[in-house]
Amino acid sequence: TGSGGANAGIPENAVEIARRHLVQPWPVAGSVGAEARALIDDGEGVYITDGDGKRLIDGPAGMWCTNLGHRREELARVMYEQAMQLSYNTPWYTMNAPAAELARRIAAAAPGELSHVFFTTGGSSAVETALRFMQFYNNVRGRPDKKLILSRGGAYHGSTYLAASLNGRPRDRDWMDGTDDLVVKLSSPDPFRRPKGLDVNAFANLLVEEFRDRIAAIGADKIGAFVGEPVQASGGVIVPPDGYLQRIREICRENDILYISDEVVTAFGRLGHVFASGDVFGLDPDMITFAKGVTSGYFPLGGVVISERLLEELRRSNHPDAMFAHGLTYTSHPIGCALALKNLDILEDEVLAHAREVAPYFQTRLKTLEDLPLVGEVRGLGLMACVDCVADRESKNPLQLDKAVGARIDAHCHELGLLVRPLINMCVMSPPLIITHEQIDTMVAILREGISRTMEDLRREGLWQG
Ligand code: PLP
Repeated sequence: TGSGGANAGIPENAVEIARRHLVQPWPVAGSVGAEARALIDDGEGVYITDGDGKRLIDGPAGMWCTNLGHRREELARVMYEQAMQLSYNTPWYTMNAPAAELARRIAAAAPGELSHVFFTTGGSSAVETALRFMQFYNNVRGRPDKKLILSRGGAYHGSTYLAASLNGRPRDRDWMDGTDDLVVKLSSPDPFRRPKGLDVNAFANLLVEEFRDRIAAIGADKIGAFVGEPVQASGGVIVPPDGYLQRIREICRENDILYISDEVVTAFGRLGHVFASGDVFGLDPDMITFAKGVTSGYFPLGGVVISERLLEELRRSNHPDAMFAHGLTYTSHPIGCALALKNLDILEDEVLAHAREVAPYFQTRLKTLEDLPLVGEVRGLGLMACVDCVADRESKNPLQLDKAVGARIDAHCHELGLLVRPLINMCVMSPPLIITHEQIDTMVAILREGISRTMEDLRREGLWQG
């Protein structure tokens, strides 16, 4: 089924065609190129409608991206108007005004000395750009060996080769290659699964110690950057211990290691501010990567905000002709940038304040699900949260139940009118920022019913005794 909505010419049997011709992202070998996924036909506000005409709350806001919700007229209009004025210009030797103005607005909202923006096509290309910029910066400064990148377990930084090499979630690298010689992996700052017997403060100390020790062992002259999400998003909404990120930032500064804050998820309102690094965590990174919410997902756009200090050092270096040989056909795309300006206007005028107001209610209501025995923890910050299901609360072991639990909950919730993002044993919730108290109540009620039904299924099938 599936009407194709307003898009004349889209056939009725899209699902069947997809099964024959579409390779979906993150497929498994056994069904690659032969997979049908839930067809989504249209969206409005916090709702989407599937191919059977069923209306669902868009629990993950697409992929943490439709921050202003679907079918926002002003956003659609500005894309149309920009396309009618100038649909594209090459950034190789021309420029456009929306990109310049958007860079100014983003720099104004960014913390510390962050002053300039390089625009990309999304998050992976933003992280890739930040890393290649670090390499270039150290080459120009005559430190060609200072290139290793520190990353952490639980991290997700993208699907291009170098960015993907930083990923630290279980399974991401099982069947995939990467440039392991360029990356050093550290522990995830996950308080829920911290070593037994340690309180959260002692756990934070342990993480900081590990960070220092690893730098001392490798040598700061070999390490170019640390890349970290303020809240590890796809790793399961891992909110780090208080003060930990600031301490890491200080160690980076002491060792001349660039601090790259990956805000692909957390920027543009998810944590109630344009950027979370400064306003939520008190950080002043050397670079911030962003994407997703910058256009509320209406157009692929991302970027890196870069510190004035780094650019100034390059301009004053002994190699004025050294070229940062890096740029994308769609860098500074005029439609994306014009759209992002309108998106930012709406965020700043009305939606950031609403997101800050509604976030505590969202967290408190979701937290009530912890009385369900399958739920090990509900955690989160701002308008991102994770329901983490466990085999039992003592071991916190998600593995016996892996693969099926998140997907089972999602299937029940879909029937009940909520799209969930299943992640192995977890369900991640990050609705459009415009969500109301009432819609949050509905979301939580559906989740409770979906989890309860999943518990019954698991008991009946002898997979869980909780
Ligand atoms: N960085 C983070 C923190 C992300 O969550 C993601 C995507 O989910 C990316 C980078 C990659 O972004 P994209 O999928 O737009 O390439």
